[in-house]
Amino acid sequence: MNKKINNKLLEIYNSMLIKVGTRNWWPSDTEFETIVGAILTQFVAWKNVTLAINNLKNEKLLSIEGIYNANNEKLEELIRCTRFYKQKARRLKEFCAHIVNKYNGDLEEFFDKDINALRDELLSLYGIGEETADCIILYAAYKPIFVVDAYTRRIFSRLGYFKEDISYKDMQKFFMDNLENRTAFFNEYHAQIDGIGSHYCYSKNPDCINCPLNKICKWSKENE
Ligand code: SF4
Repeated sequence: MNKKINNKLLEIYNSMLIKVGTRNWWPSDTEFETIVGAILTQFVAWKNVTLAINNLKNEKLLSIEGIYNANNEKLEELIRCTRFYKQKARRLKEFCAHIVNKYNGDLEEFFDKDINALRDELLSLYGIGEETADCIILYAAYKPIFVVDAYTRRIFSRLGYFKEDISYKDMQKFFMDNLENRTAFFNEYHAQIDGIGSHYCYSKNPDCINCPLNKICKWSKENE
């Protein structure tokens, strides 16, 4: 771990936390609901995901068995509000089929493996990419992996820590190499980045005046 970078990352974390407040992520009642949310949230606003999850709850389908046995057309209709709903319905179905067929429907048994094995298995499933796999590992399996996303890329490249075209893998490594690997800490750090990305660091016309990171931001200084 590079102590200087570690101190800077902790300073950034504390500045975000003071401004944004604790976020208590992930907003869900069960680990399975977290997984469904992680799969449905790709390319759509969270409010649409909430709507789809409520539809599944109302139809008593928000369970591994429920989705595994659900009629395809009905499942698609219930999650239609999340865009790309046909692909997403297939992703949910294939995830549930995997847990039913390989783990007898027992999510805990699936989560019982080490992070690398769990990640490789998630990435082998239809439509599960790195960010979704890492969200599931951190927020549903409660294992310490750092989730990075478009907000992480934008904010930390603007702060000057890496180039905007850095790979997902290198971006994740940067945080995992320079921060203490703890689940609760990684949970809140990612949630704070999401808070800054969604409320201040817009792709166009970011609100630098009110952003808690403006004093240390390279982009903000250059564009004042
Ligand atoms: S100061 Fe501006 S550019 Fe820098 S992180 Fe904050 S909102 Fe983004």
